[in-house]
Amino acid sequence: MEKSVFLKEGREKSLLRRHPWIFSGAVKKVSGDPAPGDTVTVRAGNGDFLAVGAYSPSSAIPVRIWSFEDETIDRDFFRRKLQEAYRIRSRIFGTVMPDAYRLIHSESDGLPGITCDIYKSYAVCQFTSAGADATRMTIAELLADYAPNGVYERSDCDIRAKEGLPPRTGVLTGPEPPEYIEFQENGILFRCDVRTGHKTGFYLDQRQNRLAVQQLAAGKEEVLNCFCYTGGFGLAACKGGAKHVINVDTSADALKLAQINAERNGFAPDQFETLCADVFQYLRKCRDSRKTFDMIILDPPKFADSAAAAAKAARGYKDIALLAMKLLRPGGLLFSFSCSGAMDDALFAKVTDSAAADAKIDFRIVQWLSQGPDHPVSAAFPEGRYLKGLAGFKI
Ligand code: SAH
Repeated sequence: MEKSVFLKEGREKSLLRRHPWIFSGAVKKVSGDPAPGDTVTVRAGNGDFLAVGAYSPSSAIPVRIWSFEDETIDRDFFRRKLQEAYRIRSRIFGTVMPDAYRLIHSESDGLPGITCDIYKSYAVCQFTSAGADATRMTIAELLADYAPNGVYERSDCDIRAKEGLPPRTGVLTGPEPPEYIEFQENGILFRCDVRTGHKTGFYLDQRQNRLAVQQLAAGKEEVLNCFCYTGGFGLAACKGGAKHVINVDTSADALKLAQINAERNGFAPDQFETLCADVFQYLRKCRDSRKTFDMIILDPPKFADSAAAAAKAARGYKDIALLAMKLLRPGGLLFSFSCSGAMDDALFAKVTDSAAADAKIDFRIVQWLSQGPDHPVSAAFPEGRYLKGLAGFKI
């Protein structure tokens, strides 16, 4: 008997627009007794074929679509999907692929719940849904073409709990990866810890924005890199010619790696300084001691997980933007980011505008920034666009 999910009358509309999620409220009945992760045929209430997807009974999204064609979801299907994803990257980057890039960006590459980042010849994967989880060994084996040294799993993210899946990390294929994998980005050497670092080890989505910082950093005397993690924007500023960069984060482990990264690139401690502190407190301390900067980068963690939380999170974003604007010297440059998908462009712009108004400064936005091109956004899945940023000058 076919494993299938029938939708309620009229609930096929989003699928006809190729949106890859089916919410539990849209399901009329499930037949054929599918297990979590099984492939199911999705049918309209009248039995018409709509799509094939992965079943996840305990999730608020019980089906994620693999294909809108009536096709078999097997190893060959995933091989084609990986080839398709790689082809886009090779078209973007040309003949010289970056050392580190995102190969699979989940729904936006037609592979819901599957993320894969390449670091030199290693792949690091996250499987966040029941359907994705069921594919892990197939995907890992297929990745041999893109990451010959091996595949490591970092499925230790909270959202797996919503799918009834425990966290899981470890080697999928090949040997245990080294303590650090070293790669180059925009001419800078980075070491990343794929076993315990954030996400898969590094924030690859900010590659072109770190380059934007590098290009505007020449001659800057005092730079403040807030939420610095392993030093990304701060190293970019040093490479671009900044004289002194203070890098602030609450994670001692991240700062240790930031220092190693600075040493690897030959930046002395008096040029690249790290500080273990809470950014909210540190910005206030600078305000109280009248410390000022020529350039400030704000790249906070996700403050909002849902649209409901976005309004509250907006206060956090405004708080740091307002403080940073006050600390900028005249002519100073602010790079501000939000990686909360729940916060849309309009809200991000509004927060920035009202911070400038409250800071009583004339602030000129010169660049609107987003996630890198190896983090594509499917037109059918606007949720895939999450990173927003801007660069602006204090007049
Ligand atoms: N800009 C970085 C990525 C930043 S990720 C890059 O390009 O690689 C966000 C960072 O904020 C994490 O390293 C986290 O440890 C840090 N963080 C979270 N809350 C913080 C706080 N209140 N003060 C300082 N750092 C914080």
